[in-house]
Amino acid sequence: MEDCLFCKFINGAIPVDKLYEDDDFIVIRDINPQCKNHFLAITKSHFKLLADMTECDALALARILKKIPALCDKLELKNGYRLVINQGDDAGQTVPHLHIHVLSGEKMGWDPAGRKERN
Ligand code: 5GP
Ligand code: ZN
Repeated sequence: MEDCLFCKFINGAIPVDKLYEDDDFIVIRDINPQCKNHFLAITKSHFKLLADMTECDALALARILKKIPALCDKLELKNGYRLVINQGDDAGQTVPHLHIHVLSGEKMGWDPAGRKERN
């Protein structure tokens, strides 16, 4: 898609350091890390929501989920990790191209709606 940042990373229009690449996805570091390690696993095909996936996209996503733990050393996953897929406004999705946040490298809290912060 022409105006999509992540499509530009994938097609090389904007250079980015790819930690891993295969036919289904690329892995890059997030520019604004929320954890010691914060990677983005970005699907090669462009769609915003899981609801928009074709059957073919769904098969690729299954392969991506299978592959992520195999990148254990590269992504420092051995002590545990978290996968996050933000979908739409309430979840705070800012880039409308499906991506999986891969967080690792330190103990994490759990406060998606900021309740602890507010109290
Ligand atoms: P979302 O908010 O859509 O779930 O996640 C988008 C992610 O993309 C954010 O964590 C944001 O920091 C990251 N991001 C936005 N622009 C860039 C960029 O130019 N380079 C990289 N590496 N990450 C980006
Ligand atoms: Zn895209």
